[in-house]
Amino acid sequence: MKSKTLNKLEAIQGDITRLKVDAIVNAANTSLLGGGGVDGAIHRAAGPKLLEECRRIGGCPTGEARITKGYNLPARHIIHTVGPVYRGKPSDSRLLQNCYDNSLALALANNIASIAFPAISCGVYGYPVRDAVTIAVNASCRFLEKNPAFDKILFVLFSKHDHDVYVDHIEKLKKKTIICYFYRQY
Ligand code: ADP
Repeated sequence: MKSKTLNKLEAIQGDITRLKVDAIVNAANTSLLGGGGVDGAIHRAAGPKLLEECRRIGGCPTGEARITKGYNLPARHIIHTVGPVYRGKPSDSRLLQNCYDNSLALALANNIASIAFPAISCGVYGYPVRDAVTIAVNASCRFLEKNPAFDKILFVLFSKHDHDVYVDHIEKLKKKTIICYFYRQY
C-alpha cells in the first residue's frame, strides 16, 4: 500500500453532522425513514425535507447505498447505506464491505471527492469495531488506489474508544508501509 493512499485517510472523534465535506455517510436502516443513533442525528440536523426525499426513494437493501441532498447540513450530500446486523456469520463482513464499496462508488459517480463515514453497524447493530475498522480501511485504500484523484476519506467516531481503535489501526498500517519502503531501498 502506498503512503500517499494512507495519508488520505483520517480518523477523528466528533459529530458527523457538523462536517463540511462533499458527502457524509448515514448508517441507515432498510426503510430509510430514520431511526436512532447516527441516523436520527442526521435527520434532525438535515431537517424534514430529507425524510421527504427518503420516502420517495422507497428503501434500500442491506449493503447497498442511496444518495440524497444534504439539506441543512454543511455537507452537500448524504449517502445512506444499510449495514448488516452482526450475527457472527461470514456474510456479515461481505455485507459491511459492500456498504463501503457501494458508498464510494456512488460518491465517485456524483463528483464527490471528500467523504466522511461513521462506524457503520458498530452501534445498535453490534459489529465489533476492531473487525469493522479492517473492512472500512481496506475498502477505502482499495478505492483510493484505483481513484487517485479522490481527495479524502474521513472516519468520524463518536466515542473515544472507537476513535482510538481506528487511529491505532491506521498508524500501524503507516508504520508497515514505511518499513516496506526501506526494505525495498536497501
Ligand atoms: P448501526 O445501526 O449501523 O449500528 P448506529 O447509529 O447505532 O448505527 O451506530 C453507528 C455508529 O455511529 C456508532 O459507533 C455510534 O456511536 C456512532 N454515532 C452515533 N451518533 C453519531 C454522530 N452524530 N456522529 C458520528 N457517529 C455517531
